[in-house]
Amino acid sequence: MVTPDAFHDWNLPEKLSRLKDLSYNLWWSWQPEARALFKEIDRTLWSETYHNPVTLLRNVPRARLDDLMADGAFMGRYQAVMASFDQYMNSKDTWFSKAHPEMNGQNIGYFSAEFGVHHSLRIYSGGLGILAGDHCKAASDLGVPLVGIGFMYPQGYVQQRISSDGWQQNVYEPVDWGSSPVRPVVGPTGGRMVLDVPLGRGTVKVAVWRIQVGRVPLYLMDTNVEGNSPSDREISGRLYGGDRTTRLRQEIILGIGGVRLLRALGIQPEMFHANEGHSSFLFLELVREKVSSGKSLDEAQREVSAMSVFTTHTPVEAGHDVFAEEMISEYFSDYWPQLKVEREQFLDFARVPGHTGWNMTALALKLAGRRNAVSRRHGQVSREMWKSLWPSRPVDDVPISHVTNGVHLTTWVQQDLSYIFERYLGEGWRTHQDDAAVWSKVASIPDEVLWMQHNRNKSQLMQTMRARARKRWMAEHSDPTQALAAGALLDQSALTIGFARRFAGYKRATLILHDIERLKKMLFDPWRPVQLVFAGKAHPADDGGKALIQQVYRLAKDPAFGGRIAFVEDYDMHVARYLVQGVDMWLNNPLAPLEACGTSGEKAGANGVPNFSVLDGWWEEGYNGANGWPIGAAGGRGSGPAADAADAEDIYDTLNKKIIPLYYDRDEHHIPRGWVKVMKESIRSVASVYGASRMVKDYCNNLYAPNAVVCR
Ligand SMILES: *Cc1c(COP(=O)(O)O)cnc(C)c1O
Repeated sequence: MVTPDAFHDWNLPEKLSRLKDLSYNLWWSWQPEARALFKEIDRTLWSETYHNPVTLLRNVPRARLDDLMADGAFMGRYQAVMASFDQYMNSKDTWFSKAHPEMNGQNIGYFSAEFGVHHSLRIYSGGLGILAGDHCKAASDLGVPLVGIGFMYPQGYVQQRISSDGWQQNVYEPVDWGSSPVRPVVGPTGGRMVLDVPLGRGTVKVAVWRIQVGRVPLYLMDTNVEGNSPSDREISGRLYGGDRTTRLRQEIILGIGGVRLLRALGIQPEMFHANEGHSSFLFLELVREKVSSGKSLDEAQREVSAMSVFTTHTPVEAGHDVFAEEMISEYFSDYWPQLKVEREQFLDFARVPGHTGWNMTALALKLAGRRNAVSRRHGQVSREMWKSLWPSRPVDDVPISHVTNGVHLTTWVQQDLSYIFERYLGEGWRTHQDDAAVWSKVASIPDEVLWMQHNRNKSQLMQTMRARARKRWMAEHSDPTQALAAGALLDQSALTIGFARRFAGYKRATLILHDIERLKKMLFDPWRPVQLVFAGKAHPADDGGKALIQQVYRLAKDPAFGGRIAFVEDYDMHVARYLVQGVDMWLNNPLAPLEACGTSGEKAGANGVPNFSVLDGWWEEGYNGANGWPIGAAGGRGSGPAADAADAEDIYDTLNKKIIPLYYDRDEHHIPRGWVKVMKESIRSVASVYGASRMVKDYCNNLYAPNAVVCR
């Protein structure tokens, strides 16, 4: 086990010692000047460590630091970054303090099974986790007093290696604590804080870690603690890695342990937010606390309901955890007496009428009085999906509202593009991200400036892909066709379509391959070539998803496709940044209405990469006729081979008639004026509405504020 002492063996000279504070606060990751500072320390190490300042600082030679200390200009930049860091951390004058003085001094406990804050912390799998990370970052920027609760998974989420025949290999690597920006939390007596969390008839010891995301702390639990049985030590091993029992045990620790952790830290949130159903047990624990302090069950439930927010994130059936009632009985038979209820009444807390089974989403919907979906469309779908919990109401009155997801712009907008925004939109764009007037000035960015920047981003993407391919080829003597499949033959000047997401059936990754001959014609059009870049992981146990990856990968390796189809391994936040910033267009063609929101298209759109997407999730409200292209009809065509064929037909047709001609229509300076117009409209319309700043303000105003008008 790592001791707090292991975190003190840094060898930074006194004059630069504050770089350590900086590297342990993820604030640096969305501050261009702080990033530039780390990069300047050692460009090669910066790139080799995949932008990890903790590893960088531990490995940078002392001689290099001596040089830097003698460099007045560097020291000036160092002082300036530290000064803006201190100002950010200490400022009391925030949006939240002005908008919600009634919540002054209060806290909001934010529970999530995953947090995607930086790719060096592999405690996220995809959209849900990155949303949680972006929520924390925006909350920090706005001064929202959020406290995050989650897991520190010592083996993280699966890493993806693709074998020569295209099959996804699941790789897990232990976290290297020494190179992660995470610190152990010290308990009241000086040693590590370790909690005892009841689990069934026994207890499990839980150690606590802390990650600092600007002003927002994340407290992460870990059961790999001495004194736990070997199986208990494994509970927090992997994100979404274990069997049903492990999953239940994780969720008990997340919800019930999480509340106890807050109490042990002396933090008493006035509001609790469960980001998806994995943490729903938290609401049950709040009820138990109140009952054991002498309140009636009714009273306890009423009070908990008023202080609880629940966000549901998916209409896909498998996305909702349901546990067998026998399993729940086994773990909770000592718990329900504390609520003063019998087994049946207890099981009813999480039953959907007409079904048996302990449904974590139903539990949260019943106990939390403030409930939301993550896009307008997903709101409608969720009200329909859960209407049986409110049998006396018409579906439109089912009390689930929506807050459309947004992305943390300063994390996802390419850095040089952000300087262009600064120049043409004004210095204040970062602090006025949801002000439409700021974004209307996008029109004033000269076409050549935006187009050239985009092409630099594209070349950065291709260089990165080649560097990864080369590294793997040299290190592992991989099959050379794997280097081609990884994008070695991509063409900088060809229209490049990006498709990156989890390889789950409903996302229909292979839809564009539907008519392979027709696709081939487009890829090899001598004057107007097209190329495709894919990325994405399948869930480690999903062989169907892996088969889809294999299908794409085989084409990527097939000489008949000439290297115009590429697959980037191990899609994570690092790869995602290059993709959403560097492809020409973002393709998304899920089976509607199964995409609750979809955030990667928001990242792309804000970077001037137009969306070409099914009218589902955020795009159903975000598409405005001029900022990209729709696929299919609003509401979708339903499922089945005929619907797939019709959507594929639509994709080819729009590509051939609209997208490809517009992209290749250049003026005498080789600038596609019409295309750049779509890029600008994409930035203007997406960045102003689909940023995390707007999203977190919506949460504060409509769900967190005690007097918010919530649908009941
Ligand atoms: C943004 C992001 C996602 C979410 O993408 P969707 O559009 O919701 O599918 C998933 N994975 C990574 C690595 C991301 O950056």
